[in-house]
Amino acid sequence: MTGWHYNRCMSASTTVPVATPTPKGCLWVVATPIGHLDDLSPRARALLHSVAVIAAEDTRISRRLIEGRETKVRWVVLNEQSEAKALADLIALLIEGQSVALVSDAGTPLISDPGYRLVAAAHQAGIQVSPVPGPCAAVAALSAAGLPSDRFAFEGFLPAKTGARRQRLMALSEQPNTLIFYVPARDLPVVLQDMAECFGGQRLATLGRELTKLHETVRRDDLAALQVWCAQDANQQRGEAVVVVAGSTTPMTQIAVAELTRELAQALPPSQAAAMLARLTDLSRREAFALVEQQRS
Ligand code: SAM
Repeated sequence: MTGWHYNRCMSASTTVPVATPTPKGCLWVVATPIGHLDDLSPRARALLHSVAVIAAEDTRISRRLIEGRETKVRWVVLNEQSEAKALADLIALLIEGQSVALVSDAGTPLISDPGYRLVAAAHQAGIQVSPVPGPCAAVAALSAAGLPSDRFAFEGFLPAKTGARRQRLMALSEQPNTLIFYVPARDLPVVLQDMAECFGGQRLATLGRELTKLHETVRRDDLAALQVWCAQDANQQRGEAVVVVAGSTTPMTQIAVAELTRELAQALPPSQAAAMLARLTDLSRREAFALVEQQRS
């Protein structure tokens, strides 16, 4: 694809690229699977089979994406160590008119992955940048989490050191929007413990582990229960994970709690009503049970 780019005006259903000459190359930011290889989109695949240059974190990992490619490709390794040199080389190639696809080991480049400086430099150099969207572990986990998704914050990785991690979590504890964290699965017991302590054990969360892979987990529960479950099952401590945590809810007014208690006490047996009330409010199970009983007497 030297000196050519896909015509950006083509309709979404067009699968055949329309080539038009451009003086400079295009930087394609290409999302790749987070596990299941069939999640590579046809457009991503077509691009990776035709661009002149692929910038990748680890060529051994990304090579499998272009299996069967008939023409040669030039690889440029872009990771933390090589970034400065790779960036200069890639911008020079783009200015020459070569088209470059940027990929990371998995998912969407720049999302807790390298690429930000390259994309910024491309904009500065007047080079067209175009995304080829696809898998992203954060969005995949959120889509299956069953937690409010109208407003969310991607928090990426937490600090590895306990003190710094808890400090960060405490700073987030009042945030009303859903929070998304990347967590190496081996750290789940300790990280979920910290989350339960900083956010409260009753806060709802969803664990998405090994998403799209053979041993996938999607489990929604309160933080305390999720922590116990992960700590007791060594299988849950393998692979890669995303933890999606519900945002902080502003405490309900007493009137709203009283109304909710009345509705629940009418609709459900006492223990279920109390459990639901505790889940929906800041009340402990005991306090919730007492309120339900009061309502019934
Ligand atoms: N760029 C990637 C994306 O778009 O999601 C993220 C790269 S980041 C270096 C790797 C982290 O993403 C892992 O530690 C894990 O938290 C999360 N992750 C990646 N693949 C995952 C999967 N299949 N299931 C759950 N989490 C995953």
